[in-house]
Amino acid sequence: MSFASADNLLDLVEKIIQLKRERDAVILAHNYQSHEIQFVADYVGDTLSLAMLAKNVKQHIIVFCGPDFMVETAKILAPHKTVLYANENAKCPMAAMITREELKTMKEIHPDAKVVGYLNTSAECKCEMDVCCTSSNAVKIVTSLNTKKVIFVPDQNLASYVKRFVPDKEIIAWPGFCTVHQMIQRSDILKLTKAHPHAKILIHPECTPDVVDLAHVVLSTDGMLKYVANSLEKEFIVGTELELINRMMEDNPGKKFYPVEKAFCRTQKKIKLENILNALEILEPRVSFSEDVIERARHPVEKMLAFGRGD
Ligand code: SF4
Repeated sequence: MSFASADNLLDLVEKIIQLKRERDAVILAHNYQSHEIQFVADYVGDTLSLAMLAKNVKQHIIVFCGPDFMVETAKILAPHKTVLYANENAKCPMAAMITREELKTMKEIHPDAKVVGYLNTSAECKCEMDVCCTSSNAVKIVTSLNTKKVIFVPDQNLASYVKRFVPDKEIIAWPGFCTVHQMIQRSDILKLTKAHPHAKILIHPECTPDVVDLAHVVLSTDGMLKYVANSLEKEFIVGTELELINRMMEDNPGKKFYPVEKAFCRTQKKIKLENILNALEILEPRVSFSEDVIERARHPVEKMLAFGRGD
C-alpha cells in the first residue's frame, strides 16, 4: 500500500468516527467484513449476535455492514430506528434463492409442516415462517418443535446438518446454498489435513455434508471464535469464509490457522469505508418496509431470539 492510500484510509476512518459520534450512530459489522470495516465498527459478530444487538443498542441510527438480509432483519427488530445499508448492492445470493411465492407453494403442498427459515432470506419470505434460525441455533430450534414435518429454507446443507440431530423428523429442504461454503470441497480439507495432521478441523454447517463429515467440530462463526479462544489446541483448519482467520490470528497470537483460500464472499466485500461515510453523511439508503411486512416478519424473528444461542 502506498503512503497516499494509507493517508486516504486514515482520513476516511477519522471522518467516519467523527460523523458517527455527531450523528449518535452505531456501526454493526459481520464477521466476514474486511479488516478496515471491522476496525470502524462498534460491534462485530455473527448473524445472531448482530440481530440481538440491533434490537438492543441505544442509538437510533444503525449503519449495518453486512448483506441485505442482515440489514433488513435489523429494521424488522428495530422498526422505529433508522437502519442504513452500508451498501445496498451487497445482496446475499442464498437469500435470493427463494421467494415468498415459492415458500407459499411449499406450505400448500405440506400444510401439516412447520416452517423454519434461515435469517438469510428476504423480509417478505419471513412473513411466511413460523420461526427463524441461524447456524448457531438451527438444531436447537428444530428439535424443540412439536411437529414431525418441518419445511426448512433456504439452505439445503444446513437442513441436512440439522437432520442428523432429529432423525425422527421429516425435513423438507429447499435446494438453496451459500455460494461461498458450497465451494469448499472435501479435497480442500483433506489437503490441509495432510499438510497439518495435528490441526483441529472446524467446519461451518453451511458446508456440504461430505465436508461436515470431516469436522472435529461444527460451529457458527461466533462459535468458532469462542472455541478457538478456549481450546488448548494450537492448530486449526477453518472451513468458513476467509476473513474469519484474520480475527482468529489477532485474538490468538500463539495459535496457527489454516483457511480454505478460495472461500471468499464477494457480497460481503462490496462494502467499503466510502460507503459507510456516504451513508452517515446523507442517512441513505434506508431500509423501509410496510407496517404489515414488519409485523408479520417480526414474529418468527422474535421467536428465534427467545431461543438464544445454541453453540
Ligand atoms: Fe450469503 Fe454465504 Fe456470502 Fe453469507 S457468506 S453473504 S450466506 S453468500
